[in-house]
Amino acid sequence: MLNCGVTQGNWSETNTSWAEGVLKVDFHLHSGEDPVDLIHHDAAMLIDRAAAAGYGALAITLHDRQLDDSSLTAFARERGVVLLPGIERTIEGKHVLLINFARAAAESIFTFRDLEWLKSRANGIVIAPHPFFPGASCLGRQLDRHAHLFDAVEWSYFWTKRLDFNSRAARWARAHGKPIVGNSDTHDIRQLGRTHSLVASEAHADAICAAVRDGRVEVATEPVPLSELALVLGGMMLRHRLLHVKQLDLEDERRVRRNRPVAARAVSE
Ligand SMILES: [Zn+2]
Ligand SMILES: [Zn+2]
Repeated sequence: MLNCGVTQGNWSETNTSWAEGVLKVDFHLHSGEDPVDLIHHDAAMLIDRAAAAGYGALAITLHDRQLDDSSLTAFARERGVVLLPGIERTIEGKHVLLINFARAAAESIFTFRDLEWLKSRANGIVIAPHPFFPGASCLGRQLDRHAHLFDAVEWSYFWTKRLDFNSRAARWARAHGKPIVGNSDTHDIRQLGRTHSLVASEAHADAICAAVRDGRVEVATEPVPLSELALVLGGMMLRHRLLHVKQLDLEDERRVRRNRPVAARAVSE
């Protein structure tokens, strides 16, 4: 495993000096509660697996929905894991990670102007996920335009020795003095562990966010073997297709119901 050696601000030591109070953290994970993706593992299973793998904090970042479940937070705490409030919000069509914001506020952000408003009133952190990957939902040039709104940039699980969209993000982060965090963007449980962050912080949501903002974070990562990447991406595409077919079936069903004669509807419903 590589340590990317991200040293920011006054934090000039390597992580060997962080022996005390270093947390293994992932700020970008999806689970079966996600309204957009079809995912096999639920949040409890994800927390269990992460606890067994030594994680100290996790942010489950569903698409456009923030998990707000105190029993899940307690479930994680019992296993020594801090559950950070989080969401992968679509803002003007681009994915943005909002960590440690109140649910109602995070779910009502639609524009970068809204995000500016949120940042001026709350103390969470904003992370640019997979900013330079191909795809319409990746920030790309919007990251330059709104650089001041971002506290950190993601180094994603999705990279191999030959295919690497992360290095550009790391260069951008260094040029703009932003910390880099390692995230798995887990959609498949086997992604967990290859890429994560090491944060020098107490095990508390506010302290973890402050540590990231101060640059007390390193990325631990290794390239994904092609065989694993094929399984992960293949599974994601297949599930996406299944979800699409399911949605089409539901639409068909609704159309049939709408077109059914009123008398027949009254009998059957
Ligand atoms: Zn995304
Ligand atoms: Zn994601």
